[in-house]
Amino acid sequence: MDQLLESLTEILGPDNVLTGEAVLERSADWFSSMPCEAAAIVRPATTEQLSQIMALCHKARQPVVTHGGVTGVVHGAVASANELVISLERMTAIEEVDAVGGTMTVQAGIPLQSVQEAAAEIDMQFPLDLGARGSCTIGGNIATNAGGVQVIRYGMMRQQVLGLEAVLADGRVVSSMNRMLKNNAGYDLKQLFIGSEGTLGIVTRAVLRLQPRLPSEQCAMVAVPTFDALTTLLDLTSRRLDLSAFEALWNSHYRLMTEESGAHRAPLPVDSPFYAIIETQGVDREHDAERFQALLEQAFEEGLISDAVLASSEAQRQELWAIRENIEVLIRALDPMFSFDVSLPIPAMASYVADLERQLAQAFPEAGRLVTFGHLGDGNLHIMVTVGDAGRESRYAVEKLVYQPLAEIGGSISAEHGIGMEKRDYLYLSRNEDEIEVMKMLKKALDPKGLLNPGKVLP
Ligand code: FAD
Repeated sequence: MDQLLESLTEILGPDNVLTGEAVLERSADWFSSMPCEAAAIVRPATTEQLSQIMALCHKARQPVVTHGGVTGVVHGAVASANELVISLERMTAIEEVDAVGGTMTVQAGIPLQSVQEAAAEIDMQFPLDLGARGSCTIGGNIATNAGGVQVIRYGMMRQQVLGLEAVLADGRVVSSMNRMLKNNAGYDLKQLFIGSEGTLGIVTRAVLRLQPRLPSEQCAMVAVPTFDALTTLLDLTSRRLDLSAFEALWNSHYRLMTEESGAHRAPLPVDSPFYAIIETQGVDREHDAERFQALLEQAFEEGLISDAVLASSEAQRQELWAIRENIEVLIRALDPMFSFDVSLPIPAMASYVADLERQLAQAFPEAGRLVTFGHLGDGNLHIMVTVGDAGRESRYAVEKLVYQPLAEIGGSISAEHGIGMEKRDYLYLSRNEDEIEVMKMLKKALDPKGLLNPGKVLP
């Protein structure tokens, strides 16, 4: 390792090869306070440097773990003492913005929020959006095929990437920086790297697809009496308006974020079984607002909602979203907390959550507790569980309760966060043997020495 670090220092300079305390100061994972245990952290600034790093690591059989913003939540960026972390924190350039073609070319270490802001400057939008926007990076978003709150309208990260560049395990650079929407010339190689969680290559640059920024945005939080009403409301809004987000909060979530923790003022009474944040976009400010209000009135008359609060300013809109996005409150209140990100057909959701609640109460009568919320429109639920004093060693029992029913229902153990190390042993519940075999073949073909993010994704 010492010899390798010397060679890496020659390429990057001493400031960009961190060891000892400088490594331990960094965290290993967003949810845990565990320090990073890697042998060293290297910080390339260009694809060329990264390519040289990987060529050396390949020769020395040195395993590496890529770090973006380290906001991932499935232990995908955890590195052990014999591994080298490659951090893309210096690769943050916006190389080109093409307002006519609607593309932005960036280095992969750029934070998502910087891309969103740069798009807004030319009256466009980059529609991937999630709570960790200030810290997570485009490379991490690509590697995890991130989802977020606007998937219902714009799709996941896979839909926002036109081209990308990646450094392979042996240091070769695959530059597939396509800028066109249509390009069927052979295999679409970028798709291999999107969602591969750093196990097939290190993403260094990307061509992102921008969308026109729509001038009007409507946002409301509504109280919903039943789960059926929630799904009918989703159907109604998506047929009648240009829906960009439909986030559902179970009472367990809303009550905790407001009355119980005191972290946020409750904009609606806390006794409703469900709540939703509904957001629409459009091109006609005046009429969009009228149509939005008319729809809420109709929903009220039909008994789909019992109460509503409309955001009349950006500040109010952010207040409503903070109730949904302030994960720190959940972590504090539920510690030790197990967090789950699953997807399942919408009609199966209510009974899945109710069954889980019942089973959790049976298994952990003292302190089993479930908090549920999620991107309802795309079948994605986030479930936060605490078992109180039963503590972390109970995780396996809770995982079985959460994951096992999903195979039968046709759901997935990971909707948008990926597999990492955390869900690796449950992959078989969401992918069949043949699928896992092909994944292993791809891994072997691209990374025969198993150097890229070892132990992640594949069992
Ligand atoms: P990291 O955490 O650094 O890495 C994640 C994985 O990608 C690791 O396996 C890492 O090795 C790999 N990786 C990182 N960069 C690269 C690269 N350049 N090339 C190859 N591999 C790489 N996720 C959602 O999908 N939707 C949400 O709504 C959402 N909300 C969140 C809210 C909060 C408050 C937090 C903390 C997280 C949330 N996440 C969400 C999870 C997380 O933000 C995303 O997974 C994000 O895409 C990770 O980006 P990152 O740069 O932090 O990646």
